[in-house]
Amino acid sequence: MISDHEATVATEYWHVLDDGRIQCDLCPRYCKLHEGQHGLCFVRANENDAIVLTTYGRSSGFCIDPIEKKPLNHFLPGSPVFSFGTAGCNLACKFCQNWDISKSREIRTLADEAMPDKIARVAAAEGCRSVAYTYNDPVIFLEYARDVAHECHKLGLKSVAVTAGYICDEPRKEFFSFIDAANVDLKGFTEDFYWKITGGHLQPILDTLLYLKNETDVWFETTTLLIPGKNDSPEELDNMTRWVVDNLGPDVPMHFTAFHPDWKMLDIPATPEATLKKARDIAMANGVRYAYTGNVHDKAGQSTYCHHCGQCLIGRDWYILSEWNLDEHGCCTACGTRCAGVFAEHAGDWGARRKPIYMASHA
Ligand code: SF4
Ligand SMILES: [Zn+2]
Repeated sequence: MISDHEATVATEYWHVLDDGRIQCDLCPRYCKLHEGQHGLCFVRANENDAIVLTTYGRSSGFCIDPIEKKPLNHFLPGSPVFSFGTAGCNLACKFCQNWDISKSREIRTLADEAMPDKIARVAAAEGCRSVAYTYNDPVIFLEYARDVAHECHKLGLKSVAVTAGYICDEPRKEFFSFIDAANVDLKGFTEDFYWKITGGHLQPILDTLLYLKNETDVWFETTTLLIPGKNDSPEELDNMTRWVVDNLGPDVPMHFTAFHPDWKMLDIPATPEATLKKARDIAMANGVRYAYTGNVHDKAGQSTYCHHCGQCLIGRDWYILSEWNLDEHGCCTACGTRCAGVFAEHAGDWGARRKPIYMASHA
């Protein structure tokens, strides 16, 4: 078992305030902490006059998933991804679908532990193509994710972030320097929604998306969980998808996923399928080439089509790839147009399996 001492590592993004408190500069929460206090994310704390990460090498569990589950539809489709998270989160979304992990303050009960070299080794031995930092936001465990990514890269594994993108300018550069692909939550498109429902602000998320587009080669897609009456109006979706096309271009895939009542939003019904389809239609009418529905069974809405000739390039039935009409260069077999994304020569065959991994049983 990793001791509390071993799980605590130094961090870089902070400064001392005039009143003696320390401000964490990792995310736009800018927590100002007295000695011994934890930040809102709970995993970073002021210890001995410095901000430390307290969950290095500790995880809420490991599992191999289909990459489509992150969701990433244009990054090594059909491949298995070794997935893990830690505890805590720097947003406070009332609709959180992973609140048992993200709101966990019981970091001592984190079930599994693993140092970066072991994660990379086990992921490679299990035949994964990538490792994903997911379930809770990896921004808050940047130092752990960074070291895992470095070990993964040594073994030829890619590094995937599932994130809300709520991070400050300087750490953003470091964070995405070791990430190969990301799914970024674009939770809504009004400041009012972000502030009231997530406790964060919209602009830093847009800045992250612009940074990814303009300054990096990271492959990225977006996800919007549509909550009835909160962020699903045609006008908001029209504004959002126009912004994406105007600022990020037509090739960034957008996922519109169904909300299920959870956490502090038990009084709101699940998202009707028609709302997801409408969102997809709005996106495509505004020029988004690849728009998807999620968390519902919708073969047409989850398959990938050639934006030039309309051929189905990758058919999907939940997480099973039912068709593959890309050549070895990722181009449409009917018309030769390249599909945006990162593709292997062949479709992956992981399917819909979900395989829990117990690190303790691996040497
Ligand atoms: S990373 Fe955590 S401690 Fe730092 S500002 Fe954000 S919520 Fe606060
Ligand atoms: Zn085509």
